[in-house]
Amino acid sequence: MDDHKDTDIAKDAVAEFAKEEAEREQQQQEKKKTKDRRLLYYALLALSIVVLAFQVPRILSLREEHAKPLRVGTADTDMQTDACIHNLWKVVRDLQLGETDVGGFTCPLSGVPYEVHQVKGGYVVECPNAHRHGFSHVRISTAKPIPELVP
Ligand SMILES: [Zn+2]
Repeated sequence: MDDHKDTDIAKDAVAEFAKEEAEREQQQQEKKKTKDRRLLYYALLALSIVVLAFQVPRILSLREEHAKPLRVGTADTDMQTDACIHNLWKVVRDLQLGETDVGGFTCPLSGVPYEVHQVKGGYVVECPNAHRHGFSHVRISTAKPIPELVP
């Protein structure tokens, strides 16, 4: 009787063990599934990073392509405006020195000679194409030798 009981206990123990083993296996399988899902997630994440890595330089280069001509254009125009003002200074200095033949000075943007207007007390020298510098007037007067950039 005792033996039989022992066998039953052993059977129960085996059954219990088997049940636990099955449960553990199931848990492990679930864990594996989660791991697989996580792997898939990481794979997708890595893929999007790769896609982004390829896209970002293109997006940046597109932005640069748009930004570059504007920047160069502005810098170039500013440089030409500076050169124009520099020429205006030379014309004003020549006029102040009594030289009236200043037709040799031209705007670097157009190559057109400067306009010299005689006014009360001196001259006003004006760029013939101020609008190309982005102003309505670019001028200097001999009476008040300060460059005037009228928007
Ligand atoms: Zn000019």
